[in-house]
Amino acid sequence: MYFKTVLVSSVLLFAGVASGIICAGDPQEDSGKSEDDMFFLRKRNGVINPRYRWRNGQICYTISPAFNQTQVELIKSTVATGFTGTCIKWVECQSCCNGDYVYITNDHKGCSSSSTGRAGVGRQLLNLAKECLYKGTMLHEMLHVVGFKHQHSSPERDDYVTIKIENVMDGFEIQFGKYTPDYLSSFGQPYDYCSIMHYHETAFSKNGKPTIVPKLPTTCKLGAASELSPIDKLKVNAMYKCGL
Ligand SMILES: [Zn+2]
Repeated sequence: MYFKTVLVSSVLLFAGVASGIICAGDPQEDSGKSEDDMFFLRKRNGVINPRYRWRNGQICYTISPAFNQTQVELIKSTVATGFTGTCIKWVECQSCCNGDYVYITNDHKGCSSSSTGRAGVGRQLLNLAKECLYKGTMLHEMLHVVGFKHQHSSPERDDYVTIKIENVMDGFEIQFGKYTPDYLSSFGQPYDYCSIMHYHETAFSKNGKPTIVPKLPTTCKLGAASELSPIDKLKVNAMYKCGL
């Protein structure tokens, strides 16, 4: 279940046509709807652009009353502990970020973020259906909110992984696109097989064979992280200029 929700999470974005983040289990995968059928707030580009960052690393959020108390506590503990070592601070407040805030909801199927980084339009959505309520899954989605795409979609990925497109389910090839370097930055950090933002090696496989194969030795199992990796945290801190 965990692998289904986190490790197969997907993105349909390419530089120039970006608008949001969709992760596995989202209605889009079931319905075949285009990305714009989702709850996107507007077309947007690139996490390099600082306008999509949360001021001082403070992310304001509210939680839908549809979650039960146990679920609320799990979400709160995840935002409270998951970003230790970074200057990201989640604050349960609707008005503290100049009116921009993340509404954590379970109204939709699957796990998804309506924006990469701060959308800047008031409410943006972080959908966490029941199957998403695992620490690793939530932190993956929350890192989209912070401002990150999937690791395997980075501009330099072809130096580090081989995409086995012949093993990808028909119609899902677009999930394995990559961004251009004017759109997405590694913020001076290396490609990270251990990242919580990396796909699983058999993500969207139609035959059980790998779709992503590392080119270099790694002790990390792709897509198996349950918390931010050390490099994830370095990237966050570089993006937000923590301590500077
Ligand atoms: Zn994702």
